[in-house]
Amino acid sequence: MKLSSINKQHLLFSIVLGIAGLLINCYPIQFFANVQFVLGNTVTVIAAVLLGPWYAFLTAMFASTGLMINWDSPHVYLFFGLEALFLGYARRLDIYALYADAAYWLVIGAPLVYLYVTFIMEIPSSHLGFIIAKQGVNGLVYTSLASLLILAIPKLWFFKDKVKDRHRRMLSAQLTYFFTLMVTLTMLFSALIFNYYFLERQQAMLKQNINDAVSHLATSTQNYLRNHKTVIDNAAKQLTIVADDPKQWQNMLVNLHESYPSFISMLIADPRADIISASPASRLINIDNEENINIKDRDYFIESFYNHRLFVSSVFLGRGFGNDAIIAMSAPFYTDLQHTTTAGIVEGSLDLSHFSHVDQNNEYTDDESVVMVDEQNQIIYASEKLGLTALSVFNFTVNDGVYRTSLELLNIEHPDSIVPEYIYAHKTLDNGWTVYILKEFSPLLKLAEEQMFSSFLMLLISLVCTFYISRKLSALLTVPLEAVASQFSASAVGGTKIPSIDENSPKEVFNLYQRLAASKQQLIDNQVELEDTVARRTEELENANRKLKELVDRDPLTGLFNRRYAEGKFNEMLDFCMRSEQALTVVVLDLDLFKEVNDNFGHLAGDECLRIFSQLLQKYFKRDIDIVARYGGEEFLLILPLSNALHIKHHLNSFREAVSEQRFTSPEDKREFSVTVSIGAITANADYANDLDKWIKVADDNLYQAKQDGRNRTMIDIITE
Ligand code: GH3
Ligand code: MG
Ligand code: MG
Repeated sequence: MKLSSINKQHLLFSIVLGIAGLLINCYPIQFFANVQFVLGNTVTVIAAVLLGPWYAFLTAMFASTGLMINWDSPHVYLFFGLEALFLGYARRLDIYALYADAAYWLVIGAPLVYLYVTFIMEIPSSHLGFIIAKQGVNGLVYTSLASLLILAIPKLWFFKDKVKDRHRRMLSAQLTYFFTLMVTLTMLFSALIFNYYFLERQQAMLKQNINDAVSHLATSTQNYLRNHKTVIDNAAKQLTIVADDPKQWQNMLVNLHESYPSFISMLIADPRADIISASPASRLINIDNEENINIKDRDYFIESFYNHRLFVSSVFLGRGFGNDAIIAMSAPFYTDLQHTTTAGIVEGSLDLSHFSHVDQNNEYTDDESVVMVDEQNQIIYASEKLGLTALSVFNFTVNDGVYRTSLELLNIEHPDSIVPEYIYAHKTLDNGWTVYILKEFSPLLKLAEEQMFSSFLMLLISLVCTFYISRKLSALLTVPLEAVASQFSASAVGGTKIPSIDENSPKEVFNLYQRLAASKQQLIDNQVELEDTVARRTEELENANRKLKELVDRDPLTGLFNRRYAEGKFNEMLDFCMRSEQALTVVVLDLDLFKEVNDNFGHLAGDECLRIFSQLLQKYFKRDIDIVARYGGEEFLLILPLSNALHIKHHLNSFREAVSEQRFTSPEDKREFSVTVSIGAITANADYANDLDKWIKVADDNLYQAKQDGRNRTMIDIITE
């Protein structure tokens, strides 16, 4: 983009849009897990559609800053900057934004997110599909939102030189796009809202279940411990009764052990801390050196013997009885019922592997595990699949990072990962132990992912349906319209088959067709009428023209040709005679003393005389080729081609005599009078002179001579070599 080509209005608008996007993106909508919905990018799409790629890029930079503030990962600039450019260039190719955005996320966005998540974020692969699908779905949401905003409120986006379509779009394409937008938005929103609530419920149920499970476990553990403590306590009481008869001790102990097999071993020690009785009996002898075992250094002996109390030890690994974690429970017994002298202690080693029965018998074993720790956070028991060693410290980190869920989460294997490994609930028992129920987190994520994918699939299916239906819909309008158009188009006159307006065509189109047909008929009628009128008018005009031409060429009083006409025709006559080598005669006639006619009989009588004289002229010189013209006033001009030099003077004289014999009547007082005429003429071969003036000059001279000689006579020069 050249600096000079920057449109200030566009620049300002793209920045304003960008800032709006930045603000919206500061508050992304939380979805499930670490997934957030981005709506601020709507502005980028608007900028791309209205202003083109580079302004959109600018807007995207602003909008992405909102996400950068939130997520602290600069990759957003890359993803969304590229998206803006892609949409902007697609717009220039008349590709609709939604289609372009879907293409972007499929072809560029998804691979980029894949690379980013795999190599930079180090998120496990189980998570990947979810993140990529979410990103694509998110893109479709804000793109449809933007496109609908532009379509729905075009006035809002009025720019003088916003990007315009290069080609006019098909109605079917427009309809399809509009429907696609609607379906995308409604489908996605409803799917997302449904998914959201479904997952919320799912989590609530999970939480409930896991809390119930932990309570149950805590209660049963406490009961187990309490019961066995009571057993030891009761054993001590019984031993106090038979304290003076140590022979009974062994029997009693064996019987007791049989009733309570959860004790891995039981023993009775005397005040010297030597084991007197034991079950199993092997515990009496030290296997290594075959001596009596002395337990004076053991906590349980010391606590019970010296401190006189019922003691429950911390957890330790049993020696010589397998590697299970055990606890020792011990109580003192006395020589007398007043408890004055201690007679010894009774001890039971409680087998904690018992919890594996509880664990294995519970009905939620599949993805649930149990961990039990003592007050020093040492593992008393842990489900096998966790791979934790008994009596090691239970190390875990609570995961309360970026994942949005109401569940409590923890990590064991990867303490630093943001991806939670387990959902957990815990409860601390009265003795300071804590029980944990752990449930794998990934199935929940899988569920969310499946939902996201099924929504996506549903969207795709409904898009295909929409595409099909909207094409059908638009065809309902466009096909009959095209049929109407071709019915009335000029090209349809030929042999091409015209699609007909059938009964399926919408009423509006059919009405339009009928109206068009009516106006076409009217047009044809009008045209016929117009052609008639034009023909009539043309004829009238031609007549008028003819008359006009006559008027122009003729003298109005006498109806003879006028001087202009005669002069114009002279050359034609001359050529004609030249070709046939014939003679031509030019005659000038002047009525004698005509002034007196006017004076004596009035001007009207003069006019009448001129008319009758003219008729007489036409009677005597009536060949088609003769030109008889009024030269002016009472002077006349004759051009007589193909003249016979022998007869011309005679003919002129016969005419002159006819004039003198003609009686004229004054129209006013009916008095009669007569006139005479003087004639000057020249008959010569056509090559005599080209110029009419020369012919007239000779004729005029002869006329003058005739007047001089007394009028009423003919003077003619006949020039023939
Ligand atoms: P001459 O024998 O020498 O030709 O005598 P004249 O009286 O005919 O000659 P002049 O030229 O003195 O007079 C011509 C007269 O013709 C004058 C005019 O009043 C008359 N005149 C010319 N045109 C018309 C016309 O159209 N109507 C009538 N009534 N008189 C006309
Ligand atoms: Mg005259
Ligand atoms: Mg005259």
